[in-house]
Amino acid sequence: MQTRDHNKNSIGVTILGSTGSIGVNTLDVLARHADRFHVFALTANNQVDRLFEQCKKFKPAFAVMVSPDAAQQLEYKIKQAGIVTNVLAGIKGLEQVASDAATDYVMAAIVGAAGLRPTLSAARAGKRILLANKEALVMSGQIFIDEVKNNGAQLLPIDSEHNAIFQCMPTDFEDGLSEVGVRRILLTASGGPFRDIPLEKLHDVTPEQACAHPNWVMGKKISVDSATMMNKGLEVIEACWLFGTTPDFIQVVLHPQSVIHSMVEYTDGSVLAQLGNPDMRTPIAHALAWPERLESGVESLNLFDVARLDFATPDLQRFPCLRLAIDAMRAGGTSSTILNAANEVAVQAFLDGNIAFSDIANIIEYALSHVTAKAVDNLDAVIAADAMTRQVSSDYISQQSFSARKLNP
Ligand code: NAD
Ligand code: MG
Repeated sequence: MQTRDHNKNSIGVTILGSTGSIGVNTLDVLARHADRFHVFALTANNQVDRLFEQCKKFKPAFAVMVSPDAAQQLEYKIKQAGIVTNVLAGIKGLEQVASDAATDYVMAAIVGAAGLRPTLSAARAGKRILLANKEALVMSGQIFIDEVKNNGAQLLPIDSEHNAIFQCMPTDFEDGLSEVGVRRILLTASGGPFRDIPLEKLHDVTPEQACAHPNWVMGKKISVDSATMMNKGLEVIEACWLFGTTPDFIQVVLHPQSVIHSMVEYTDGSVLAQLGNPDMRTPIAHALAWPERLESGVESLNLFDVARLDFATPDLQRFPCLRLAIDAMRAGGTSSTILNAANEVAVQAFLDGNIAFSDIANIIEYALSHVTAKAVDNLDAVIAADAMTRQVSSDYISQQSFSARKLNP
């Protein structure tokens, strides 16, 4: 029987979504600092083999698979291999490992709304939350922020832009920009793979083209979001909640090189930027070590290779999803929940070949005008808006004869 051994000062880390792009990068950074951190729990949706390999290497106390069948398969493999990892199943298992007294930090790296409940469990248990799962914050807004504040949790952004903004904020920043002399946030965006293609060609782009991001290797959902620029829209909303501001104080700046990860402008005209190679191990290491610094494995930025930094304003005709997201944040209540849920349904339909790329924005717009936004008083209101929007969006997709069906049967 293999055993875990770590010193008592070692920090226990749970990774929600360990088999994904962020999860794998987090394990890479943790493996460089085995003296300082140990993996308490790893979780995945249904990728048995990947999670098994990670359990063999990191020997967590717990592994959680959302699918009960997958959990059974994993448990069998783990027993055969003689690894001391307990296997749990389902959303309850996710909530348990996110709030267990033996975990200190929780990396929230599940994609989409599925990450909301376990991330809220981590907040209620007062953990340090390393937030990659922006959808959880976008859909629940004030409820999420209140859970963090009321339970003494720490919220550290992993999204590279928000991590950059956090690094450029004064250290006494708590809430609200003007209190600390900040005039506005400059949120950078690469513009994705379709920044320059002729507008009339956008309709027919394929999922493969949409997932081929020029600067970052990421999961499929966020790759499509980057291609529509919904990712930047979700990030505007994320920044509003994280930094206590409104879209009026956030300027989206197209910056194709993805070297400046975002900027903060002060009232005296100073603009502070955080630069680095586009590699998620930088924000991950930053949030793990904060307020210290940690070696991450990321190479030095070679400014001579970069040579130039370009900036432009985003074209809202090309990227209607960005406009829809900003409008939803301004509208308030469950509008952002509706936006997020419709986007998740539309992106999946696009990846499945059931709709065209340009239909994504149409479906979101339809959902926003057919589901009534309400005040976000409690979590039930959020869950209800999410479920209702998924139904309305799916019905709309199956009732309409979207043109991509003919292209990608
Ligand atoms: P991914 O698709 O590569 O991985 C997603 C992970 O979530 C996997 O481990 C998967 O098993 C798990 N998962 C999927 N559906 C689930 C469900 N229903 N229940 C429980 N677990 C489920 O995604 P990713 O690119 O790693 O992105 C994860 C999150 O981080 C997203 O919210 C994304 O927006 C955010 N993010 C990612 C990057 C990046 O560079 N990849 C950058 C910034 C923010
Ligand atoms: Mg980002």
